[in-house]
Amino acid sequence: MAKKSLKAKPLLSPQYCKACGLCVEACAQGCLVMGEAIHPETGLRPVVLDIERCTACGLCISACPEPYALAPLPVEGETEIPAPPPKAALTTPDTRLPLAIEDPLVIRGTYASAIGALLAGCRNFFGYPITPSTEGAELMALLLPKLDGVFVQAVSELATINMMYGCGGAGRRAMTFTSSPGMSLMLEGLSYMIGAEIPGVVVDVMRGGPGLGNIAPEQSDIKLVCRSLGHGNTHGIVLAPSTPQEMLDLTFDAFELSFRYRIPAVVLCDGYLGQMTGRVVLPKTMVRPGVPGWAVTGDREHRRNLMCSIELSERDLEEHNRRLIEKYKRIEKSEQRADLFHCDDAEVILVACNTPARMAKGAVRELRQRGAKVGLFRPLTLWPFPIQALEPVVARARRIVVVEASDGQLEDELRLALSHAGMRLPARIESLRHYGGVLPQLHEIVDVVLPDALSAGASRGRA
Ligand code: SF4
Ligand code: SF4
Repeated sequence: MAKKSLKAKPLLSPQYCKACGLCVEACAQGCLVMGEAIHPETGLRPVVLDIERCTACGLCISACPEPYALAPLPVEGETEIPAPPPKAALTTPDTRLPLAIEDPLVIRGTYASAIGALLAGCRNFFGYPITPSTEGAELMALLLPKLDGVFVQAVSELATINMMYGCGGAGRRAMTFTSSPGMSLMLEGLSYMIGAEIPGVVVDVMRGGPGLGNIAPEQSDIKLVCRSLGHGNTHGIVLAPSTPQEMLDLTFDAFELSFRYRIPAVVLCDGYLGQMTGRVVLPKTMVRPGVPGWAVTGDREHRRNLMCSIELSERDLEEHNRRLIEKYKRIEKSEQRADLFHCDDAEVILVACNTPARMAKGAVRELRQRGAKVGLFRPLTLWPFPIQALEPVVARARRIVVVEASDGQLEDELRLALSHAGMRLPARIESLRHYGGVLPQLHEIVDVVLPDALSAGASRGRA
C-alpha cells in the first residue's frame, strides 16, 4: 500500500515492523537504526527511532512498505493514525467446479499424483529431481506454464521446502515430488512448516536405503514421516496409496487435509507404485482455491498475519505446543482411513500398505480359495494410524502378519497404535519383510499363512 508523502514526525509501531531497513536508508538525519532487541510477538528486530533528532520530513513514512509500522505522529486536528487492520482477515472459500471427463486415463502413479494436485487447485511446484520421483515433476513442468502456474526447479531440496514454506504461507497450494534421500533433506523445513502451521504437500516416492541406497522400491521412510518430521512436537498427515487411482485420489485429499488443518501432508508411495501404469478415473469436481484468512497475501487485511515458528518465551512456546497437540488429537480422531478386504470373519489379518499391499491382496484371494479365513487391513493413513477400524478386526483375529518392504517400520506403527489404544495384543504378530528393493511375493505370504490357517480350520472342524 503506497503511503502519501506527509511532512510529519513518525509514530513507530514495532509490532508491525518487518525490519527491512528501508526507513533507515531514507532518513538523512540518522534518527532510525536497525534494532538489536527481538520483538517478543514477531521474533524480528524492529528499528529504533530517536524522535528528538527528527525534522519531520516524512521520508521514512513514505519509504516504509508496511501500512502500520510507521504512521504520521498525530498532531492535534491535523493527522490521524490509520485504523489498525481487523483482528482476523476474511477467508475467501474454495469453489468446487464440475469436471466432465468421463473416460479414464491410463497413466503411471507419479502422473496420477500430479494430476490429483492440479485438480486440487495446486498451481505451484518447487522441486529438485531425484529418481524415482522425477517424472511427476516433469509433468508439472509441462502443464503448469499452460495453466498460469509456477514451476521452479530449486537448487536443492532445502531450497525446495523453503519455497513451499513461502508459498504455503501466502495461502497458495504448493507441492513437491521427492524420494527418500531428498525427504531427509527437507525435514528441517517441514519442521518449520509444522511449527508455523503452513500447509503444503510432499509426494515421497520411497527408494531403497539407507544413505543413497538404490532406486528400487522400499518402504524406508515410514518411520521418518510418521515419527520424525522435525525436532519437536511434530506431525504431518501421512497418506499411503497402493494404486495409481489412489495416487490421484490421495494427493487430491492431501491438499484438502493440509489446508483444513494447516499442516503439511505427505503422500507416501514407493518406487514401484510411482512407475506403475494403471487405469485412473478423474473425480467429478475440481477445486478453485480461495484465500485463507490466516495467509500473508500482502493486501491490507492479510498484512498483519505472521507466519512464524519461533516463540522465544518458554510459556508461549509451551502454549503453542499445547495448541499443536490439540490439533493432532483432532486429526487423530477425525481423519483415520483404512481399506478392509475380507476382514469380517478373518482369523488371520495381513497388514500392509503401498505396493506390498497389492501382493497381500492377491494372497488373500488365493488363501480364501484354499479355505483359509484371511483378510487384509490396509492403512490409507499411516499417521494418524487407523486404529478405530483395526480395533474390531484385531479383536476377532488369532494372528496378525505384517507384510512390508522395510525393517518393521509399519509393524512399529501398528504396535504403537495398539498400545496407545490400550488394546490387548492378539496372540501373535508375525512379519514378512524384505529390503533393498526386493518386495514380498504372493507365494511367500501364502507360505507363511497357510499351514497354520488350515490346521486351525481343521481343529475347528473337529470341534
Ligand atoms: S521524518 Fe524524516 S527525519 Fe524524522 S525520522 Fe523520518 S526520515 Fe528521519
Ligand atoms: S521501513 Fe517500516 S518495516 Fe522497514 S524497518 Fe522501517 S519501520 Fe520497519
